[in-house]
Order: sequence, then structure tokens, then C-alpha cells
Amino acid sequence: EHIANQIAAGEVVERPASVVKELVENAIDAGSTRIEVAVEEGGLQSIRVKDNGSGIEAEDCETAFYRHATSKIANGRDLFQITSLGFRGEALPSIAAVAKVSLLTASSDDGKGRLLEIEGGKLTVNEDAAHSRGTEMNVRELFYNTPARLKYMKSIQTELGHISDAMYRTALAHPGISFTLHHNGNQLLHTLGNGDLLQVIAAVYGTLAAKAMLPVLAEDPDYRISGLVSRPEWTRSNRNAVTTIVGGRYIRSNGLNAAIMRAYHTLLPINRYPLLVLKLDMHPSLVDVNVHPAKLEVRFSKETELYQFVEQEIRKVLLGENL
Ligand code: ADP
Ligand code: MG
Repeated sequence: EHIANQIAAGEVVERPASVVKELVENAIDAGSTRIEVAVEEGGLQSIRVKDNGSGIEAEDCETAFYRHATSKIANGRDLFQITSLGFRGEALPSIAAVAKVSLLTASSDDGKGRLLEIEGGKLTVNEDAAHSRGTEMNVRELFYNTPARLKYMKSIQTELGHISDAMYRTALAHPGISFTLHHNGNQLLHTLGNGDLLQVIAAVYGTLAAKAMLPVLAEDPDYRISGLVSRPEWTRSNRNAVTTIVGGRYIRSNGLNAAIMRAYHTLLPINRYPLLVLKLDMHPSLVDVNVHPAKLEVRFSKETELYQFVEQEIRKVLLGENL
């Protein structure tokens, strides 16, 4: 059972950034308006995610760490009706199998909460503890019991790069939530959570970048796209600043990226890329988000139509032909 947990954990927990992403998604699902993330040594030494969300009832805390116990999927059809970020009930068991985890949580404002400690999948503490409403997860010594996996970790700078990238994109996907990120005590991100995407862009890419953005907003019967795209004069040397968001998740789609680049085609110098945050809304039946365990990849059921729509609407904005 432990071995099975560790193997399955490898799918969900590839590196420290995967832990950050899963814990932050849980905090978002819990309705938090403020999420604070602090990591040490690229997240390999410790990851702390603190939120002001719903908290977890004392009697539900242990269940949250049992594999699939919380899966919201009852049958295959449900896969097409997913609206919350988490739906597999795999993250907490997977993380707890390969790290030392503590959970401090309270689901009411009376100061009464619960503390759990789990080491390598074994529950060692489960007791009452004072806490204000919300949840604080601490993950220490990731992969301490899977040395082979630990050996594959890159430098602290590389792991931190993955963490900050995940935090930046999550903040861009949720301008209504305030995010902070600290590494070894240094603040790397602070967004206000006032719903203003331009503020998030300024926090992530700087105020000059925020000044270069143009709004996009369009819908057809199947899709609605909204967001901000950089003027063609403002370019970057890599495509890392292209963020596409579906159902509250940032996703990776080669088809979408290609459509975006076609819109900028002839407007950008060779090897230059735009800055762009694009949110796509559609009926859940038009997208399958379970293609990849880390949920980064999705499958659209009318992809050609979607790509054409995206290309056409971005080009309209860039050419100043917005109706
Ligand atoms: P999933 O998100 O797929 O349901 P997880 O393993 O990530 O599975 O989390 C298990 C459960 O623990 C969640 O469904 C939720 O009920 C609870 N939970 C986890 N993190 C939080 C949090 N920060 N706030 C409130 N509840 C949480
Ligand atoms: Mg989850």
C-alpha cells in the first residue's frame, strides 16, 4: 500500500512546484480570498501554504489524506462536468506519502481547530489546536523517503523558477484573490486581490508591461474569450509570458499557442513573443481537463473552431479593428 502510494504520488508530485500548485488549488477551491505561500530552499526544505478559506471540519481531516476518499467523480460522465479545480482526491495522499506534512485548520471563527501530522503517509498527530478560520499546510523535506526521486531534483534556482512560474500564472488566473510568495524570507510576489488583472500583470511583469496591454473581449455561441494582450511593439525574447486559462486553471495547449502566434504573425520580429493573459470560458462539456495528471493539458472538443476564433479576435484587437 505504501509503495503503491509512492508510485502514484510520482504522477501528482513531480517536484516542489507540483506541491505548491496542488495546495494552492485546494485553497482556491475552499473559497479563500488571501493565499500566502512561503518556501525554503526551492521548496525542497519546506513549503507553507496558508489560506483564509472554509477550513476542514475536525472529523474530516483524516479522510482528506486517504486516497480517492474525496474524489468528486462518481462516474465517467462527471469528468465532463468539472467545475472545481480539484476532483481526484489524490493530492493530499500523494504529498503525504513522500514528505512530512502538517495540517492546521479551523472551519469556524471560534478559535477551535485541528492539528494533524503525517510522516511518510503515517498519521502521528491528530488533536485539537487553536487556529483562526482557514487552513495552513506545511510540507517539509519533500522526497525524504524516496532518495531516487530526490536525486532528480534540479538546483534550488530551477525549482524556485517552477514554483514562481506556477504562482504567477495562478495569480493571473485569479485576480480576485490576493497572493503572496516568499522564498527564504524574500517576497517575490504580492497581488492585491481586487479583481484588477492589470495590477496582477504589473506585480508579475512590471509596470511597463502593464502599460503595454490591450483588452480582448469576444464571444460566440460556444466560447467567450477575455483578457489582455500586449501591443506588438512590446515584445519578449521567450514565450513564457503567454498564459491561457480554462475553467480557472492555466493550461498548456500547443494549438492555442499557435493560434496566438498566427494572430501576431507579421507584427512581431522573428524570435520575439507577446505577453498575453487569455481566459477562455465554455460549457464544461466542450473541454476535457483530465488528459494529464497535473491537469495542465486539456482537450477541446471543437478545437479548430476555437483556434480560429482566438486568432481572429486577437488580430482584430492588434489591428485596431475592434467593433
Ligand atoms: P481534491 O482537491 O481533488 O478534492 P485533495 O487531496 O487535494 O483532493 O484534497 C482533499 C480534500 O481536502 C479536499 O477535497 C477538501 O475537502 C480538503 N481540503 C484540502 N485542502 C483544503 C483547504 N486548503 N481548505 C479546505 N479544505 C481543504
Ligand atoms: Mg486538490
